[in-house]
Amino acid sequence: AREIHLAARPQGFPTLDDFALAEVEVPTPGEGQVLVRNLVMSVDPYMRGRMNDRKSYVAPFQIGKPLDGGAVGEVVASEAEGFAVGDTVLHGLGWREYALVDAAHATKVDPTQAPLGAYLGVLGMPGMTAYAGLVDVAAFKEGDVVFVSGAAGAVGQVAGQIAKLKGARRVIGSAGTDAKVDYLVDELGFDAAFNYRNAPVRDQLAKAAPDGIDVYFDNVGGDHLEAALEAFNLYGRAALCGAISVYNDAEPKPGPNNLFLAVGKRLTLRGYLVADHEHLREQFVKEVGGWIASGELKYDETITEGGVEKAPEAFLGMLRGENLGKALVTF
Ligand code: NDP
Repeated sequence: AREIHLAARPQGFPTLDDFALAEVEVPTPGEGQVLVRNLVMSVDPYMRGRMNDRKSYVAPFQIGKPLDGGAVGEVVASEAEGFAVGDTVLHGLGWREYALVDAAHATKVDPTQAPLGAYLGVLGMPGMTAYAGLVDVAAFKEGDVVFVSGAAGAVGQVAGQIAKLKGARRVIGSAGTDAKVDYLVDELGFDAAFNYRNAPVRDQLAKAAPDGIDVYFDNVGGDHLEAALEAFNLYGRAALCGAISVYNDAEPKPGPNNLFLAVGKRLTLRGYLVADHEHLREQFVKEVGGWIASGELKYDETITEGGVEKAPEAFLGMLRGENLGKALVTF
């Protein structure tokens, strides 16, 4: 069976040479384990951070060892109570064809309820990140004007639509291509959107939000965060979800130059990790699942076919912004 190893720690933007395809024996499950044949896996921005040898909230990947991350597959052998051959499970050992998973780290999912990729996207970790960030962290309330950066990605596309569905006065999104901007406005119902590559974010945001913003859902950091600080109304709230604009920087850049605006405007800027918001799970599944079923919430996925050897390309493509919605690899 094949799996992808980290060959080298990327310096700046990663390259294909940082990954290696390895051939390994298919393992046999021990007591309490299942063997899973992976069918779809996720490539996520946070994985870039794990390629650095730096202390963080998840342990770094190790050189010469397989990468890991969200995946859905079929149980092909089981030594665990409650799991049978043929079950479909969500687990954390992607980047390989066969995964030996402790039953405690496998969650059964229903393949007839939603396409498998949805469990890694809109109904999975990214969808929950959008929900928790908006509802819990940014304390969204009806009538808010909301700005979402990275708005055409897995998290952003959901965050913007939840804001709309929950009664935002205006939702503004930013993304890196004109086609994504059209998608946000024409397909997802954003009130305004702009391409951050076309002109300074500050100018484009000021134009798109003439009455300022109340909530900023930050996936990007950098110039986007600075622009949001300018645009905030009094008592504005930011959910600091990610900062993809700096993930590939070899040297840290100075932070927002205008952070002092948070003082006069009495802003709340709050970072969070989705894992701390499990108490919202039931509410999330009910609300977001309901909107998907009714067709009120749409989502896109960008699927790279061709199996595990395509995962590095898919990962680099996601970092370059080639994905619309959730970036996935199918086996
Ligand atoms: P996306 O699906 O949004 O994919 C990443 C996108 O980032 C690309 O499509 C690209 O779109 C954009 N991008 C890449 N480089 C830049 C740049 N320099 N400036 C602006 N945009 C850039 O990924 P996710 O939805 O999975 O993740 C979005 C954010 O949420 C990330 O920051 C991630 O780390 C964070 N996150 C945080 C979690 C938490 O618990 N706090 C959990 C999950 C995700 P474009 O064409 O628009 O440039």
